[in-house]
Amino acid sequence: MRILLLNPPLLTTPHTTDLVVNAPLSACLVTGYAGACLQQAGFEVQVADADVAGWTMAETAAFLSGAAYDLLGVHLKFLWERTPEILDLLAAVKRQKPAVHLNLYGHYPTFAWETLLREYPFIDSIARGEPEFILVELARQLAGPDRTAWRRIEGLARREGDKAVGNPLRPAIVDLDALPFPLRPPADLIARRQMHHYILGSRGCFGRCTFCYLNPFYGPEAPWRGRSPENIIKEINAVHRQTGSTSFYFADANFFGPGEKGRRRILELAALLKELDFPIVFGLECRSSDVEEEVFARLVEAGLRDVFLGVESGARSALDRFRKGTTVAQNERALKILRNLGIHISLGFINFDPGATLEEIKENLYFLQRMDLLDCPTTTAHLFFHRLVVLRGMPAYGQLLEQGRLHPAGFTGHEGEYQIADPRVEALARVMGAVARRTLEFTRGEDLWGAAGEKICSAGSMCVHGAGDGEAGLECSGTVSPPANGRWEAFNRLNMFLQSFLSGLIDEAAGGNPAREWIEQAVEKGLKGIEKVVRPS
Ligand code: SF4
Repeated sequence: MRILLLNPPLLTTPHTTDLVVNAPLSACLVTGYAGACLQQAGFEVQVADADVAGWTMAETAAFLSGAAYDLLGVHLKFLWERTPEILDLLAAVKRQKPAVHLNLYGHYPTFAWETLLREYPFIDSIARGEPEFILVELARQLAGPDRTAWRRIEGLARREGDKAVGNPLRPAIVDLDALPFPLRPPADLIARRQMHHYILGSRGCFGRCTFCYLNPFYGPEAPWRGRSPENIIKEINAVHRQTGSTSFYFADANFFGPGEKGRRRILELAALLKELDFPIVFGLECRSSDVEEEVFARLVEAGLRDVFLGVESGARSALDRFRKGTTVAQNERALKILRNLGIHISLGFINFDPGATLEEIKENLYFLQRMDLLDCPTTTAHLFFHRLVVLRGMPAYGQLLEQGRLHPAGFTGHEGEYQIADPRVEALARVMGAVARRTLEFTRGEDLWGAAGEKICSAGSMCVHGAGDGEAGLECSGTVSPPANGRWEAFNRLNMFLQSFLSGLIDEAAGGNPAREWIEQAVEKGLKGIEKVVRPS
């Protein structure tokens, strides 16, 4: 049984380049783990990471056509209107090699399995949830004497006649220490792509945010599961031996386990990281409720430099609606602690969602100003404009659909289209969308970087906490050149303009029910205002 695991090219459009919410960051090692488990079970496995290798679709097709394999596992990601291109590629593989078993895995197929199996008959099976053991079992059964046994594998979905059938789900993997370390792309490729060396120290989250599909992926009852600090250290040592790298990023959706036990585990891990023979730097993602001065001071001593903080909002009512389980005071406290420790912060923030109110947008503005988070126009534009993308699998998708407030749209109805309940906020979101886009065209992200090429902005990520980029796991903000002389003044003026523009817009919108003309006029006013401050006569 020859197995090929494919991570397809990450196709984007100008609209979706920044919307890296098609797979959480924690999914970046899914193929590596699946490959390692298959190897451990004695199978011959090849991994084709077309995304990390930077292959075009034609190069990927040529590779798939020339390689020999019996089972093709594909980490399929939702790529909006470009998703069908990947499916066309796979259809061509099946036409050329009809005996190959085609299996899809990952977050997107886990939630879209019925539609995919119904509408794309060349797909043989889909692994729902964690794919490692499903793929091992699938390979075993396909290699065995009973040609139909694979159809009964727990966690697998497949077709019966023209019907899509989902077998009972598998329980989430409990003992993460028992898993082999994931296969990784070649070190020179990682260096060339300026990627992190990712470590997955845990799976799942004890939070239950309405906009996050992390837990629905692992299974409704799946708890947060952590590896032992010793096991994590072993892997870091192994990666360092292979690559020489001293820079790591924890891809865990939530670095902390629940309660005192979770806190103690991190203190143990920090102590072990500090004792490594080679000093490392690392980053992590967490909730503001887990930020404690003592714990983070230990982590900084161990090499912590970057934190992606799931703040989400500066308004209590929005945090409650998101079922975030945190407060504005916790957000403020966390930001202060991280700042005092000199940690670079990226922010998960949602300014517009289906239930957003004018009062919340105003509270968000004050919060961001009060916390000095609007430190450059690229950051300000991102934070002001960020509108929640609702994808199938998120609890919010089902809730809004049931309430008749969401319309399944796009390929396989995977993205839910919605209007913000308050039409004034919907109008505001549209205006800010246009103004933010123009801002980003002007700044090109140059304002995020200091003269020496160091990242100087404290925030400014479009990523949603728990929903970062896909398999490749590139940084949210790409490296760009520092700004040319004279641009700084324009950036400062632009940053001030954006804040006063949004503030004025909120007041205007509060005065009435904005019609289409109001939106057009406000966009025009915003774009003219930008021109004026960036190119003063
Ligand atoms: S958004 Fe973050 S805190 Fe909320 S459930 Fe997802 S991983 Fe947990």
